[in-house]
Amino acid sequence: MAFFNENYRKLKAGYLFPEIARRVNAFCEANPKRAERLIRCGIGDVTEPLPSAVIAALHRAVDEQANRALFRGYGPEQGYPFLRAAIAEIDYRARGIDVADDEIFVSDGSKCDCGNILDILGHQNYVGVPDPVYPVYVDTNVMAGHTGAASSSGAYEGICYLTGNEANGFVPEPPAATAKPLDVAYLCFPNNPTGAVASRERLRAWVDYALANDTLLLFDAAYEAYVREPSLPRSIYEIHGARRCAIEFRSFSKNGGFTGLRCAFIVIPKELTARTGDGGARVPLHGLWARRMSTKFNGVSYIVQRAAEAIYSPEGRAQVSALIALYMENAAILRRGAAEAGLRVFGGENAPYIWVATPAGVGSWEFFDKMLREANVVITPGSGFGAAGEGYFRISAFNSRENAIEVARRLSALR
Ligand SMILES: *Cc1c(COP(=O)(O)O)cnc(C)c1O
Repeated sequence: MAFFNENYRKLKAGYLFPEIARRVNAFCEANPKRAERLIRCGIGDVTEPLPSAVIAALHRAVDEQANRALFRGYGPEQGYPFLRAAIAEIDYRARGIDVADDEIFVSDGSKCDCGNILDILGHQNYVGVPDPVYPVYVDTNVMAGHTGAASSSGAYEGICYLTGNEANGFVPEPPAATAKPLDVAYLCFPNNPTGAVASRERLRAWVDYALANDTLLLFDAAYEAYVREPSLPRSIYEIHGARRCAIEFRSFSKNGGFTGLRCAFIVIPKELTARTGDGGARVPLHGLWARRMSTKFNGVSYIVQRAAEAIYSPEGRAQVSALIALYMENAAILRRGAAEAGLRVFGGENAPYIWVATPAGVGSWEFFDKMLREANVVITPGSGFGAAGEGYFRISAFNSRENAIEVARRLSALR
């Protein structure tokens, strides 16, 4: 008899994006004329094609695969040395951050990395998760059996929710010294969905907390490329001491537009350790992850790793900057539109997401329906990112300029 993983039963049925799709489809069927003017600012996927430097690298790599002398089969599970070196040198060492090539592990996406990292962590960890945030952190912990059931508000027993709100600028503080210490804490800056970025001081507080409490920080920097203000940290390793307490997750999805091509990486410093269950020995996580990758993964395709390498060429870097500038101008346009509608606006200055408060007394889903019916614009209800997202919605700046201008116009005309 085969038994299934019953933790999957604890997952809440109405996952955010299927529910959005259901409501949008129902609206379009009932209103075929209005459906034609529908603009989607919902799912956080890029809209622009890949940079030409990436396309050229893909073509070259494909041609190599046709040549017996240059053909590549299985590559190193942790990534090709050419890509690991480019990442470590340009993303880190050139910015004064100490990261070695072999501390980089190349993967097919940050979503997988965020879930897979639980493979090397114990089941007894007390885990802190920001609220609101990217739903993957909570759901992968539910699947791994690290939680109890969900309450009616959607909060899982056994998880410590780290609330982001207007008072803390959507950057949760570490738990109080009197609270049960966290073993693991997820952080995501620039944040999806709020667009908030943690200042150096706020990250310092998290690193100090982690070092004092032996907490492992899982720092998701998928939107690092959108940080404009030079004083804001782009990597957790800009904070002294983070090499002893943090893993960083990065992706080529939102900078190079690799959401379809698939390539990402994580950084595990060699001095980062975790304890055995009896609290005695300390073991480096680097070796555990290397072992996990060589057992369960056969590497990202050579072609895709050459494409990722092209992001680091001078042309690639200029093209990525131009892509980000395009999305960030959209963000500025959308911010103005929402402000003209009289709404309180957050984010969108160092992140491609605008986080907007609904009018007093209006719930996230209620406002979603209003935007769909009256403006024919699909937004994302904040409550889909956690209980603390109730009363807010997210607008994505991943769109054409034309659509961003039109959405801003419809927002400002909203009554
Ligand atoms: C988009 C996104 C990622 C990237 O995921 P990939 O699997 O690399 O495409 C990671 N974290 C957050 C918060 C994201 O929004």
